[in-house]
Amino acid sequence: MPTYTTECLVLARRDLGENDRCITVLTREFGKRNFAIRGARRGTSKVSGATEPFTRLKVLAATGKSLDVITQCEITAVYSSLRSTVAGLAGACYLCEVVDALLHEHDEQSAAAVFNLICHALNLMQQPARWPDAVMNATLLRLMAELGYAPRLDTCCCCEEPLDAGPAGFSASNGGTVCRVCSSALKDAVSLSAETIALMDLLGNAGAKVLTEIKPLDRPAALATGVIQRYVQFHAGRIIKSSEFLHSIRAGGG
Ligand SMILES: [Zn+2]
Repeated sequence: MPTYTTECLVLARRDLGENDRCITVLTREFGKRNFAIRGARRGTSKVSGATEPFTRLKVLAATGKSLDVITQCEITAVYSSLRSTVAGLAGACYLCEVVDALLHEHDEQSAAAVFNLICHALNLMQQPARWPDAVMNATLLRLMAELGYAPRLDTCCCCEEPLDAGPAGFSASNGGTVCRVCSSALKDAVSLSAETIALMDLLGNAGAKVLTEIKPLDRPAALATGVIQRYVQFHAGRIIKSSEFLHSIRAGGG
């Protein structure tokens, strides 16, 4: 059986047969892939830990008929600080589920960029931040841009006119901001202050230092988070199950 090596990040896992597991991973070279890990559900298996979501691995895989099989693997990062708090765990799981939902298997086009983006985000999410959602929101916006869905934030998606200094609408189905006139005719448009739009623009471009130090006012912060997550969900085309968990943690002050 031909073999190959790759670096990957575990996005999801499910049981396979009596003793095995199937993991969905994001690889640096090949984009999203599914692998079988034989014996992963036996308590004694050395590879059991390699099936946990957001674990980073180096694997040796053998090409199989339906699923490639991991024959050897080395865990290279577990992001333990994220696993030690419920908020960290919720954020990392949400990010993995979003990537799994947005990427198609074997789509290699943005593989390396998305892999680097998500691994960088997980590293950064381990650092203390004044606004816990900053890195997550910035990563979601950059992920969308990488996949060709960057939301428009400066002109109206419907009439192409520049936005004025006041509030504007945001329509996920139209791809971003819409002026007040066009907004009134759209069912999915939500109203955003100019401050919230500026915050989203900043999140899409700011470096790591700004993302850990930024502390916006509560209302624009909450609105930006809600709009970004709804935009991601619109493109994912399915409910992101861990978003409810994430919301309950944030509502509880985590
Ligand atoms: Zn317009």
